[in-house]
Amino acid sequence: MRQRRAKTYRKLMSLYSLSFGFRQPYQVLIDSDMCILAVAAKTDLHQQLGIVLQGNVKPMITQCCIQELYLLGKSHQSAVDLAKSFERRKCNHREAIPGQECIASVIGESNKHRYVVATQLRALRVMLRLIPAVPIVHRNRAVMILEPPSDATLDTKQQNEEKAFQPSAAELANIGVDNPPERPRRRKGPKGPNSLSVKKKAPPDTSQKRKRTDVDEDVTSPTAQKRKRRRKRGDSSATLSNRVSPAVSPTHVST
Ligand SMILES: [Zn+2]
Repeated sequence: MRQRRAKTYRKLMSLYSLSFGFRQPYQVLIDSDMCILAVAAKTDLHQQLGIVLQGNVKPMITQCCIQELYLLGKSHQSAVDLAKSFERRKCNHREAIPGQECIASVIGESNKHRYVVATQLRALRVMLRLIPAVPIVHRNRAVMILEPPSDATLDTKQQNEEKAFQPSAAELANIGVDNPPERPRRRKGPKGPNSLSVKKKAPPDTSQKRKRTDVDEDVTSPTAQKRKRRRKRGDSSATLSNRVSPAVSPTHVST
């Protein structure tokens, strides 16, 4: 199998595992046609299923499906022998029904037993796509194909995820309407390094100290001048109210 297809299949099976609880060995329901085709192609069906599903598999056949093979007579003895090597799935149909109907009934509405289905029957595959989480395998000449997930599968997966993110009734009661959960305040801007992991600053050496005082005393530096100016203005404003011109105030009073 090509590397890319193997990766796609592995991802798809992990979707079935994570979202729908599929577990290895994957239980694969195999229909009678698939048994006949495998014998005709002289391929190892068990091994091929393991490759396409990217894991351990347990091939299974229903009572009705193996009955179909018995009815075909001696000419299909090797297909019967193959089917006999699989685990028998009891379907409890007293009288055998057509294989595809039997498989459909075993899958039911929700595939609760987590079966993979290997079938060539187009009608059955179409029907199984309507049920969420049914991995479907069919044969295309010598190659086994795992179908992409059906819409029903993807829709159900999304619904399950949305449900998982909604708070439960108990959680809602805990939170209450008046006490919204407190959120940790976030500092804006880039975070500094972790203060615990930063080395303490070495005490400044004397040469740096001198440099600094030099700057402070340098009156010509722009910062020093600014500071000086600001101080001056502050002084003047403090006395400004006392210095209101007496010539102006009388006019104010008269109006
Ligand atoms: Zn049956």
